[in-house]
Amino acid sequence: MLGLNQDFPLLLSTVLEHGAANYGATEIISHGHAETIRTDYASVASRARRLGSLLKGEMVGSLAWNTHRHLELFYAVTGIGSVLHTANPRLPPAQIAYTIDFAGCRTLFIDLDTLALAESLRPQLPSVEDFVIMAPRSAMPATTLPGVVCYEDLIDAGDPDFVWPIFEERTAALLCFTSGTTGAPKGALYSHRGTVLNAMSTGGGNGWGLCADDAILAVPGFFHCNGWAVPFFGPMFGAKLVLPGRSADTAFLHRLIVEEGITVGPGVPTIWLGLLEHCRSHGLRLGRLNRIFSGGTAPPAAMMEAYLRDYGVRTIHGWGMTETTSGSTMSFARDDLAVMRTQGKPLYGNQIRIVHESGAPVARDGKSPGLLQVRGHWVAGAYFRRPEVEFQTEDGWMETGDIAAIDPDNTLHLLDRAKDMVKSGGEWISSQALEDAALRHPGVLEAAVLAIPHPKWQERPFLVVVPRPGGGLTEDDLRAHLSGIVPKWWLPDSVCFVDDLPHGPTGKLAKNVLREWLKEGRLSP
Ligand code: ADP
Repeated sequence: MLGLNQDFPLLLSTVLEHGAANYGATEIISHGHAETIRTDYASVASRARRLGSLLKGEMVGSLAWNTHRHLELFYAVTGIGSVLHTANPRLPPAQIAYTIDFAGCRTLFIDLDTLALAESLRPQLPSVEDFVIMAPRSAMPATTLPGVVCYEDLIDAGDPDFVWPIFEERTAALLCFTSGTTGAPKGALYSHRGTVLNAMSTGGGNGWGLCADDAILAVPGFFHCNGWAVPFFGPMFGAKLVLPGRSADTAFLHRLIVEEGITVGPGVPTIWLGLLEHCRSHGLRLGRLNRIFSGGTAPPAAMMEAYLRDYGVRTIHGWGMTETTSGSTMSFARDDLAVMRTQGKPLYGNQIRIVHESGAPVARDGKSPGLLQVRGHWVAGAYFRRPEVEFQTEDGWMETGDIAAIDPDNTLHLLDRAKDMVKSGGEWISSQALEDAALRHPGVLEAAVLAIPHPKWQERPFLVVVPRPGGGLTEDDLRAHLSGIVPKWWLPDSVCFVDDLPHGPTGKLAKNVLREWLKEGRLSP
């Protein structure tokens, strides 16, 4: 027997219309190319409807930063049942072209900031027929691109009375590619249903705890896991949104946090470490900011401690992947640092488990490591147009490539990516845990641990450190510091000091590049 509720599909257009109807005057502040716009949900919804009335094609592309126009595009494209492929301008150019071409985008929306990039990619984009420049008419540039349209002309020409169509909630809405450290990037194709459920659950009480008193700073690019759901959180929870364009400049972000009364912001730890340094060195405070959301890679414990102790800002720590539509587990931490250090528990809609290589279950005792698998309403079941890539078990769990331990109460302790673990004498050393221990030394700015081959132990850890300038850090200091934190057999066989470490397109440490440096002899253990 079926229930007798109304059968109303979970469509992204309903999220925007909810924001417009209930929080229409709530502000959205957008910092585009030499342009700051203060707008609101009512206006964004009205412009999205006009744009939606004119759009065509199954797949529309964007190569753009976080602005109100990109936000409108999210809803205009998905609202009519087309798919928005948010190409990542931070990928290597050949990979950007690959993703746009592979997706088959016929229209590409670009910013003034990405125009030069689009022009240079043009010969590699045979499928693209029209380029829409997301700029005011007065700023339309001269360009070598064919078929150029001004975004604001489309808005003006659109139908103000357009009504979003209703369709099947499992329809694809957004396409995001992994950053592809090895091989071609792979696409995660998110449905309306998965995206709405993800935002409802991760934005709620045990996740970000969002409400209409919040003001969110949208740091992660909209092209990275849908900007970690921020474009949906705003209208869904009625929160003010601040969109910093392409800038991740620390002083600029700090100014926005204070001037716009930001209460919460997402970002990779590099962003939060930079902000902490900035506040410390200039004696600055953080206004209304009361929580940061850290994801993408393990946040240093020392950073979370400093935010809580010195600024009263707690860290919501989440784990997720492109394949899990942003967040999958989150630490509901209040003021408990021990909980903040974990990756938290699955939000409703996700399940986690750990298994041996054989597939046999590993005990949830908080200690035993296993291969992490996940399943749920917004977990990818296949890659876009790559049916040959298998990453699901026969019983429907996704293999994440991460190694984790799980507590009896289901709290996740992510130990490492399987490929980054150091396998020493048949035991595993977590490169992440060793890096975290090194970062607790005040003289260490950044740390990376690599496995190097060893004749007796198979692999041993090699520690690469960016020291704080002028701090006089020595290898002996580091060893003494580490031996108070990690087991003796974890101590790195060698340590090397560098001025800088390489980062990938999402700001994470690029260990693949470091491994290349090692091969080329640029780093000597
Ligand atoms: P990429 O693989 O290109 O970095 P993703 O954003 O999909 O792109 O990365 C997902 C991976 O990032 C996870 O599999 C995990 O290894 C790592 N990760 C994400 N969040 C955390 C976290 N809170 N702690 C540790 N590692 C994390």
